[in-house]
Amino acid sequence: MPTRPARVLILISLVLTFSIPSFAWDEVGHKITAYIAWDRMTPAAREAVVRLMLTGPEDSGLPSYYMGYGSQNEDTRKRDYFVLMATWADFIKDRNLKTRNSKYSVPNWHYTDTYWMEKDGKPVLVTLNEPGGLAIQKIEEFAKIIRSPTSKDAEKAIAIAWLIHLIGDIHQPLHASSRVTAEFPKGDQGGNTFLLTPAGTPREQQVNLHSYWDSIVENKEANSRNLCDADYIYPVAHDIMEKFPYDKLRDRMKDDQFEAWMNESFSLATTEVYKGVEEGKMPSKKYTENAYKIAQERFALGGYRLGDLFNEVFGGTPTK
Ligand SMILES: [Zn+2]
Repeated sequence: MPTRPARVLILISLVLTFSIPSFAWDEVGHKITAYIAWDRMTPAAREAVVRLMLTGPEDSGLPSYYMGYGSQNEDTRKRDYFVLMATWADFIKDRNLKTRNSKYSVPNWHYTDTYWMEKDGKPVLVTLNEPGGLAIQKIEEFAKIIRSPTSKDAEKAIAIAWLIHLIGDIHQPLHASSRVTAEFPKGDQGGNTFLLTPAGTPREQQVNLHSYWDSIVENKEANSRNLCDADYIYPVAHDIMEKFPYDKLRDRMKDDQFEAWMNESFSLATTEVYKGVEEGKMPSKKYTENAYKIAQERFALGGYRLGDLFNEVFGGTPTK
């Protein structure tokens, strides 16, 4: 077990060097979702989720990440911890950590697959006998755990960390879709096989449609000055909350209808995501503008819904 300063260093290096996985909003997207949720959450809900995550099993690493690097006071420290833990389900996959390939890290929990193909310009569902992603099943299971009076606190800790992450993931349109084409009869893995970089691009420099959407915030506005989260991510989240305030989306919350949230993503994948983009060519500015607008609303909905779920379970009525 590393000493506390060593753990701080491991964490910082993880946060800085963690490579972006191919099945998730990237770190920025997940943190935006969590920040919006935190803003929506009542003091009682905030207190409960942080207290519970700190009871997480030692080998999950959950409690050890509570350190508040650079945070000014207890409130910002808790907020930053909550926001950072939105990426726990991703960074535990790191090959230097014991959590990799453990019971905590399961790759097919991050997405669902709905197979479809385009026929006469319209999406048509396709039935394939392929093992699909389990995101919805896991969200339902974890939501039950946090509600159950008989669940142990340590189980709730893991469930909370996964929920913060997965509710973000299912709002990414390409997490709900696998497009079947002649070239990819078993589906395109949420756009992972749809390459945007020209043929012959070295693997480590390739960009595909999935990774492009995962990193949509940076594609729209790169963090070129290497700002910290509070200066880069949090203002983006505020901007999204201003453009898509809760009141405007109130009627679309569909509380706890996890499958309906995912179906919205699927619908966007089939109607918007493949429109105006070609293989082998980076998307146009117009495409990026439209994708960013869609993504902003998805972040807002995902964040508010996550916040409302925790409010409903851990009590308190939001003041706005
Ligand atoms: Zn993920």
